Amino acid sequence: MSHTSRPDSGSGSGPAGSGEERPLHFIEQIVEADNASSKWGLWKAGEATSGQREGAPRVHTRFPPEPNGYLHVGHAKSICLNYGLAERYAGKFNLRFDDTNPSKEEMEYVESIKRDVKWLGGAYDGPFGGGLYWASDYFQAMYDFAVELVRKGRAYVCQLTADEVSSRRGSPGVPATSPFRDRPIEESLRLFAEMREGKHPNGAMTLRAKIDLASPNFNLRDPVMYRILHEAHHNTGTAWCIYPMYDWAHGIEDSLEGITHSICTLEFEDHRPLYDWFIGAINEGRGGPGQPAKIHHPQQIEFAKYRPTYTVLSKRNLLRMVQSGIVRGWDDPRMPTVAGIRRRGYTPEAIRALCRDVGVTKVESSIDVVRQENAVREHLNKVAPRAMGVLRPLRVVIENWPEDRTDLLDFVVNPEAPGAGTRKIPFTREIYIEQDDFMENPPKKFFRLAPGAEVRLRWAYFLTCTGVEKDATGRVVCLRATIDPATRGGDAPPGPDGKPSRKVKGTIHWVSAKHAVEAEVRLYDRLFSAEEPGKRTGKWEDDLNPASLETVRALVDPWLASPQPEEPEWADGIRRFQLERLGYFCVDPDSTPQKPVLNRTTTLRDSWAKDAAQG
Ligand code: ATP
Ligand code: MG
Repeated sequence: MSHTSRPDSGSGSGPAGSGEERPLHFIEQIVEADNASSKWGLWKAGEATSGQREGAPRVHTRFPPEPNGYLHVGHAKSICLNYGLAERYAGKFNLRFDDTNPSKEEMEYVESIKRDVKWLGGAYDGPFGGGLYWASDYFQAMYDFAVELVRKGRAYVCQLTADEVSSRRGSPGVPATSPFRDRPIEESLRLFAEMREGKHPNGAMTLRAKIDLASPNFNLRDPVMYRILHEAHHNTGTAWCIYPMYDWAHGIEDSLEGITHSICTLEFEDHRPLYDWFIGAINEGRGGPGQPAKIHHPQQIEFAKYRPTYTVLSKRNLLRMVQSGIVRGWDDPRMPTVAGIRRRGYTPEAIRALCRDVGVTKVESSIDVVRQENAVREHLNKVAPRAMGVLRPLRVVIENWPEDRTDLLDFVVNPEAPGAGTRKIPFTREIYIEQDDFMENPPKKFFRLAPGAEVRLRWAYFLTCTGVEKDATGRVVCLRATIDPATRGGDAPPGPDGKPSRKVKGTIHWVSAKHAVEAEVRLYDRLFSAEEPGKRTGKWEDDLNPASLETVRALVDPWLASPQPEEPEWADGIRRFQLERLGYFCVDPDSTPQKPVLNRTTTLRDSWAKDAAQG
């Protein structure tokens, strides 16, 4: 077994730069050991579809979301992990909706989850895909297994109410109790059948596993397997009025799909004995001559959740943000949902790189959200074309430039991708610069524009400020300036020694006033201003950042208004670019051809770290 990684095998999870060697994480080590011993058997002829090789060791993972909300970045981690294993070991990856709870609004969630899983590269219908499944398709099988357990004396119908169960659950030294535990098997069989037939109201009774009322692991104190719920289900309609509990259902789902490595997060570690007990109880008395075959017994493996700082996850909380109007919806670009970060401009490559970067461990710890932001910076730096735009425009009139003259200057589309080439940008007598880039009375180290000072206009000319116009309130509304024609392209002409004859320290961005297009630009900051939202007061609402969204009317290069031949092809159709000096941006679906709407994905550098450094 090798303990370092071979380069990613390609298609799905292989953004540029992912081929570096890294140590195997602990789950990969488990898979490789299992493969070496053929623990899970080999792919048979009929099972080996396009991505698998007949006779190669079976590796079969799944992602099992409950369709009760949109997926978040934590789920993305699980998808990348599970799909990544299937792809790496030429196995299969299932998407399975864990729809064991009847509920009303699920279809919107189901559609969003499918889209998000695919966007992240989790191709459940591709060469390494095992397909799309529904837990509710197994309701009959689960019921039959439950009857089998009752027959074996491994489960019983308990008529305690929920309150009675909890008041009798005991304590670490004191066992739980149930007066129904030792009722005759026949009586439990009859009552369970009646539960299923709808003869009893919600809460009247449950089916419980008969395990160990004294167990120090409370999950084993005769857990509930079925509860009565007279509610229609989106998939099975009114066919059922009893619904299986997660622990009972999940292992059966994994087993029936032939999952080998059932990967979940650490909070399920204490449930693993139960996972194993249920499958063991089903298999008890099976496998001998004349008996039904044993069912497959996958291995549950737990890893630490992805928990970024300055972020609240968990669908329950995210739903509250949506319903209370704190954000504009599940896909608000400030949301840590997959839909939110996609709308924000994140790329799937960046998320996959992030997941590789944070790794897979057994130790819970929060991850600095800066790593998430850096992942997208790093990817977009390589692939995003550049453009210029001005967020808070200040007009500049260039007095030595003729009214009707337009100079077409060369603009490098992406210095990190030389193949992207150059394009032309217009320079005219009136331009806009950023208000921040001018100061009338600058401090010493201000290298941008000031009266009498010279700066470089990016890709254009050296510009000197010759005058300032103010309105009645004293606000600067326009600058007068001149350019040096000998600096075209942005360099001083060479002196006698061949080196540039003079230097300017500052370079600022600009747009031609005649050509610029107005755009609504949405500038985002973190939704929370505390590293651990809710830690101080117990309520994350108390740590909301009131300035998480600022909208400005910007003036941008008209190139941004519609798709351009110099742009890369974005697989998801979302156009992204760098506005020089301002950050990475993408085109929001609210855009119209008349008025682009841009989202700032991230600034170029981590502005929070800088703030901290400056105190
Ligand atoms: P939440 O409570 O955040 O809504 P969940 O665990 O209830 O999450 P499910 O739909 O049940 O959501 O989870 C689907 C899969 O995603 C599970 O295997 C779960 O372990 C995994 N998962 C959930 N949150 C994270 C996370 N923060 N990091 C990694 N995996 C996660
Ligand atoms: Mg859940």
